[in-house]
Amino acid sequence: MPEASSANFNRLVEPKLKERRLTRQARETCSAANHIAGACLVNLPWVCSLRMNSLLLTGGRVIDPANRLDAVADLLILNGKIAAVGKDAATQAPGEIERFDAKGKIVCPGLIDLHVHLREPGQTAKENIATGTAAAARGGFTSVVCMPNTSPAIDNAGTVALIHERAAQHGVVNVFVTGAITKNIAGEELASIGSLKRAGVVAITDDGHCVQNNELMRRALEYAKMFDLPVMDHCQDYSLVTDGVMHEGYWSTVLGLRGWPSAGEEMIVARNILLAELTGARVHCQHLSAVGSVALLREAKKRGVPISGEACPHHFTLTDAAVSGSEKFWAEDGKDLAKFQSGTGFQPVSDRQDACPTWPAYDTNFKMNPPLRSARDREAILEGLADGTIEILCSDHAPHCDYEKEVEFDYAPFGITGLETELALSLMQLVHAKRISVPDLIAKYTVNPARLLNLQKGTLGVGADADVTVFDPDREWIFERDETASKSSNSPFFGWRLKGRTVATIVNGKKIWIEQAELAPV
Ligand SMILES: [Zn+2]
Repeated sequence: MPEASSANFNRLVEPKLKERRLTRQARETCSAANHIAGACLVNLPWVCSLRMNSLLLTGGRVIDPANRLDAVADLLILNGKIAAVGKDAATQAPGEIERFDAKGKIVCPGLIDLHVHLREPGQTAKENIATGTAAAARGGFTSVVCMPNTSPAIDNAGTVALIHERAAQHGVVNVFVTGAITKNIAGEELASIGSLKRAGVVAITDDGHCVQNNELMRRALEYAKMFDLPVMDHCQDYSLVTDGVMHEGYWSTVLGLRGWPSAGEEMIVARNILLAELTGARVHCQHLSAVGSVALLREAKKRGVPISGEACPHHFTLTDAAVSGSEKFWAEDGKDLAKFQSGTGFQPVSDRQDACPTWPAYDTNFKMNPPLRSARDREAILEGLADGTIEILCSDHAPHCDYEKEVEFDYAPFGITGLETELALSLMQLVHAKRISVPDLIAKYTVNPARLLNLQKGTLGVGADADVTVFDPDREWIFERDETASKSSNSPFFGWRLKGRTVATIVNGKKIWIEQAELAPV
């Protein structure tokens, strides 16, 4: 190397190398003990992970169903882990730690949504890992479980590795992956379940589709049991449902739309109960919508069958009357909700509070699979949630592009987004309606899904990952179309007045989302 250029090299590169050396040294020197003693040796904020991932939440109502905790307390996070919970947590905090005033709010383990479609790979016009996890963060979710019906389907170890890599690069919350039961979700040949397990999937499911061949499903359950994987099932009997687009009942007749009968779901719930009993595998029935499904599950659980179920807010908030337009819905099944929407007895939160949201008949944002069902079905789901038959809440967040939804009802794809509204809708229908307690609701979003999928999440136990959600159960707000973080806007709840709002979402001790009103109170 000529002399001049060597000098140049030293001048330009040497300081950078020196900085890098110092950084490495500093990282090694900086320990938790130093921080607790208030003697941080690192003055470079971007170096010190403790500074970035440490936080003291003060004065909140800390609810941690995994540890049966419900008390006003402080919560100390150091280096991305829960360090202390309780009255003395503040005394253990290093002097320079960032504080977050959680007074009047609920502090709980980071919420988990075990049923989310992130659409990556292959359908990124609808959503991707960055936008889907951003929507999760806004909704208060620190972990999501993504479904394998992507393009290509997540039916092999390579695609699982791809999702893990993309999630590490672009995800703002934890992403857990499910693998397909059958190759290409075609329902014909089993996927390599052992290799999916080794690649790190937390469950297998053909969600969006349903394995129709009972013998194949039996073998899937036997393999899943060998690998200690739960099997999640989208319960739909194709021969009964055929090309149904909405719940088969009064409204499908009035509207002239093809019906999707409740029996189409109940048939597969019953099949799954029998096969869970036969094989001893854990089977989880996804997005339950029908009264018969709840009754079957309740009875099977009493007998000790390893079966479980989940419910989504749209199924226990809306009914099939909504497909006939807002006017009919508010006048009939939506009467109680209409009172809240019209602001009777509540402080106005915006100038739009005085009217119920409106939508036309055949609005495709009310088309999902399984479909919105009758008021009696809605009540049965609420009862199942209240008595513990259904122990998990989730969104079935299913983004679709506007152009896909802006077609006739028959041709629109099934599904709606849900990550940003599910906590509020669950609070409204379950807690504010006095059906279950706040700790019971939190359990359905934390410890229960964590247990089903063997996730080391859903707890505020000392040493656990510092995934924390802070929310205000009483805050009223309106879900605005231009505020969604999702890439898609196929939600039926735009313009709805909701009660209950995430205030802060913390992943690994880092605040990844803060409600604007918290930053600049008005
Ligand atoms: Zn599904």
